[in-house]
Amino acid sequence: MSLDNAKRRQLAKIRQRTLPSIQEFVSAILDGDLAMLSRAITLVESNKPAHHELAQQIVNACIPHSGNSIRIGITGVPGVGKSTFIESFGTHVTSQGHQLAVLAIDPSSEVSKGSILGDKTRMQELSTNSKAFIRPSPSTGSLGGVANATRESIVLCEAAGFDIILVETVGVGQSETLVHSMVDFFLLLMLAGAGDELQGIKRGIMEMSDAIAINKADGENIRKAKMARREYANAIHLFPPNANNWTPQVLTCSAMQKEGLGDVWNTIDQFVNQTKLNGWFEKNRSKQSLRWMHDTLGSFLTDSLYQNENMRQIIREKEYAVQHNELNPYQAAKELFASYLKMQS
Ligand code: GDP
Repeated sequence: MSLDNAKRRQLAKIRQRTLPSIQEFVSAILDGDLAMLSRAITLVESNKPAHHELAQQIVNACIPHSGNSIRIGITGVPGVGKSTFIESFGTHVTSQGHQLAVLAIDPSSEVSKGSILGDKTRMQELSTNSKAFIRPSPSTGSLGGVANATRESIVLCEAAGFDIILVETVGVGQSETLVHSMVDFFLLLMLAGAGDELQGIKRGIMEMSDAIAINKADGENIRKAKMARREYANAIHLFPPNANNWTPQVLTCSAMQKEGLGDVWNTIDQFVNQTKLNGWFEKNRSKQSLRWMHDTLGSFLTDSLYQNENMRQIIREKEYAVQHNELNPYQAAKELFASYLKMQS
């Protein structure tokens, strides 16, 4: 490496270390500066209290500039073709003149400290598309919880001008419910020929979906995909009707051959038109805002309790007592909460 390069890297590092002000962050984000958007999302995902505090202020300032997008959740078991789909579908959507941001929730990364979703290397075409922004999932737990971090990232992306937000999650746990609580439209990708059980898709996830797209409908698989489409469409009719008066659609597509993506997009478009007309779209968003408020309040309370120096000491004592069977867990929690309330008064 030449001296010039070394110097440049050093300078870049220094610049990285000194954090811009809230105002600098906000105006850069509103200008669509993607590097600053990324840095702001990093703050949102941080588990350092000072970063978190700064992030809250940036998000707060961006909220008036947010909301003007369609938020789409995508789920499906690993291997169903989510990243291939996002790549093809994203290219389709941006070719229609939209600006697309892709976010990911990967709850397993909180445990494994590794990110398996939203990886740029999985979406190479889209990652070089100037109308798309791909954000890998956070690799460590953020202070306010993974759901709040994603909600805040959505706000930041919308303020930066993205009008389509895709939130990807892996279809194996409770992360679908989380994603469902923050999007307008929920899309489930499935495969033909593998039973629901095999695919690990719980009935509840099918019930909360606004559309099911049977992927890999190409080559010899087309016939099977069409059959599966009929079966799922029949199954869906047996589900209780959705609060939004929308009949979930079952479609087939091939993410690899880039087929059927226009149908998925048209379905989302129809859904948005219909639910905006019948008032459900806004109603759902305000319900989601309430949930966001309660989740945030919950995380404020938890943080305030666990970050209190005096509490930490008492928590350690109670932990010891519970571990050594000197105190039952319920009683310990009750006493800890009483100590916390006493400190606040
Ligand atoms: P993810 O784990 O859900 O993100 O799935 P990937 O997008 O990584 O896809 C898993 C495998 O399925 C890869 O080998 C893809 O090439 C393949 N795949 C994805 N979409 C299609 C499709 O539409 N047709 C076919 N034949 N293969 C696909």
